[in-house]
Amino acid sequence: MSEQARKAEKLDADDELASKRAEFVLDDVVYLDGNSLGALPVAVPGRVEDVVRRQWGELRIRSWTEGGWWTAPERIGDRIAPLVGAAAGQIIVGDSTSVNLFKALVGAVRLAGAGRDEILVDATTFPTDGYIAESAARMTGCTLRPVRPSEVPGALGDRTAAVLLNHVDYRTGRLHDLPSLTAAVRAAGALVVWDLCHSAGALPVGLDGHGVDLAVGCTYKYLNGGPGSPAFLYVRKGLQDRFDSPLPGWNSHAEPFGMRAEYEPAAGAVRGRVGTPDILSMLALEAALEVWDGVSVDAVRAKSLALTDFFLECVEAYVPAGRVECVTPRAHAERGSQVALRCPDAGEVMKRLIGRGVVGDFRRPDVLRFGFTPLYVGFADVERAARVLAEELA
Ligand SMILES: *Cc1c(COP(=O)(O)O)cnc(C)c1O
Repeated sequence: MSEQARKAEKLDADDELASKRAEFVLDDVVYLDGNSLGALPVAVPGRVEDVVRRQWGELRIRSWTEGGWWTAPERIGDRIAPLVGAAAGQIIVGDSTSVNLFKALVGAVRLAGAGRDEILVDATTFPTDGYIAESAARMTGCTLRPVRPSEVPGALGDRTAAVLLNHVDYRTGRLHDLPSLTAAVRAAGALVVWDLCHSAGALPVGLDGHGVDLAVGCTYKYLNGGPGSPAFLYVRKGLQDRFDSPLPGWNSHAEPFGMRAEYEPAAGAVRGRVGTPDILSMLALEAALEVWDGVSVDAVRAKSLALTDFFLECVEAYVPAGRVECVTPRAHAERGSQVALRCPDAGEVMKRLIGRGVVGDFRRPDVLRFGFTPLYVGFADVERAARVLAEELA
């Protein structure tokens, strides 16, 4: 047994989150792709069955009111809120991340007001954010300027309307400095929109504490909501009554069943809704969120850093020197919950790893991505993943 294998046993024995693993459907695969699609929580299939057979099959239309379907977007938003450091009443769940990015970014430009006609976007962003930003800029008559997150403070000016940033870079796993970037954008009189796809459920975000204006996040990654589960939109309380959504629908109307010809936006987070919510996905997500009962995000973060530290240690010990290059920052303050390793034949290597029961993913052109979900990944998994990787790279 290697020194690392012994260490893994000890780390697993001391792991306070280890019991959470039993709340997920897992097999003997080492699943390191929870940053793309979180594993299935045990409670979900039974709940979905109830929603379909009883709520839909028997109660039918009554479920919209008696079964709480109508208010699910706000209720589930309030369940996500503490996980991202938000007080209740500021998050709604629904639509995809892409659609919510559009609402948030156009809404931010409208809030910024006259004379501000430039949008800054993370130059290294996940593609959909860039496409949406380009269209939002065109629609609002703004110019779009791609800048690296570290260069945002120097790029801000009195023409900046809004800034769209990724909290964690999806490719490298780099964690950006949300508190200081948020403060810089606000000091310049602009609005910030954070994309939390790779941080919600993985690390503390502190939306309220850091004064974030708007944020959008994904629920099928670290929140385990299931394939295509609806995203969430956060609008800071102080902005809600001026938030002017570019997608007003009857669900965000002050009086949805008034069926009025004129639009009058609802008060509060509800203003971010559009049309009829996707109830099946939404209630699957609600069941999935029960795994967070009694879990502190700080404990998740501590374990996440221990997992990624240990993975880096095992890779260093096992993988021949120079065979991979780590593109994820070593400093904890700059690391999300994934490790990205660059190697020239990454696509082929990942296929072989998956064939051997170690599931990560490949991002073009040459990145092996390993996501660490502290609720169900253990230290023995980490050691095995590094060992199999080393064997495949030898
Ligand atoms: C996963 C991810 C998305 C996904 O957007 P969808 O609309 O759900 O497809 C968007 N942005 C980032 C940064 C992501 O990581």
